[in-house]
Amino acid sequence: MKSHYRVVVIGGGIVGASVLYHLTRKGWGDIALIERTELTAGSTWHAAAGFHAINDDPHIAALQAYTIKLYQEIEAESGQNVGLHMPGGYSIATTPERWEWLQSEFAIYETIGIEARLATPEEIVTECPIVDPRGLLGGLFDAHEGAVGPHGTTHAFAIAARRRGADVILRNRVTGLKPHADGWLVETEQERSSRSTWSMPADSGHAASDAWPASTCRSRRCSTTTSSPRTCRSCWHVPTRCRA
Ligand SMILES: Cc1cc2nc3c(=O)[nH]c(=O)nc-3n(C[C@H](O)[C@H](O)[C@H](O)COP(=O)(O)OP(=O)(O)OC[C@H]3O[C@@H](n4cnc5c(N)ncnc54)[C@H](O)[C@@H]3O)c2cc1C
Repeated sequence: MKSHYRVVVIGGGIVGASVLYHLTRKGWGDIALIERTELTAGSTWHAAAGFHAINDDPHIAALQAYTIKLYQEIEAESGQNVGLHMPGGYSIATTPERWEWLQSEFAIYETIGIEARLATPEEIVTECPIVDPRGLLGGLFDAHEGAVGPHGTTHAFAIAARRRGADVILRNRVTGLKPHADGWLVETEQERSSRSTWSMPADSGHAASDAWPASTCRSRRCSTTTSSPRTCRSCWHVPTRCRA
């Protein structure tokens, strides 16, 4: 445990572990995660950890699709089983308004390259016999619906981050944060004899949000590769840079 880090991530749930991992992937060294008890001791431990790519906001849909792909990558990189189970799933419509909305969602997923398809009531009931077909107008099948093990996934992020040089410090509650000229003093309870202090640069939040995957716009109008979540107003606000 060092007395100074470039970035300290506080909290070893799925979010903290993922932020730590993404910082290492962006090439950040001299970083640490500090957890008051054990990894996944918070909400993450309770999660059913269900996921799907489908979301009303295409930015979030693209981010979710990225994350789902990442689960397999971090399992391979860390050697830690993430408990991925991805059978796919249906969002169903029993009102014309919702059916119309699902069809417009489908158009968005086609545009941004998320695998999905519209399904008839017959298809849905055949694949999922517990669905009551009365009033069913159709559905949207999301091939990326499923669940992971939150414990395994958090540990996979932490193991992979450690291998890339990050420190993971457990059983050490953060008791205070004090701003100073070069960053933050992070006080913790473990170091009773000498209070631990870490320095965290003011732009560390920006660095975490910058951890966006390089992607190519799948719109017919655009084909530019981007490494930041830019909004393209010509192609459904997909995170991309537009030529138009
Ligand atoms: C019953 C339930 C079911 C859920 N189901 C789903 C689901 O199906 N799909 C889904 O996507 N989401 C689900 N969620 C939501 C999901 O669990 C949370 O959004 C997610 O776990 C939040 O992760 P986190 O890392 O932000 O927080 P947490 O997991 O709470 O992590 C925070 C960490 O910070 C640590 N900490 C706190 N204070 C300090 C301190 N002072 N010093 C050091 N460490 C500290 C805690 O010990 C903890 O480990 C569910 C949640 C619950 C409760």
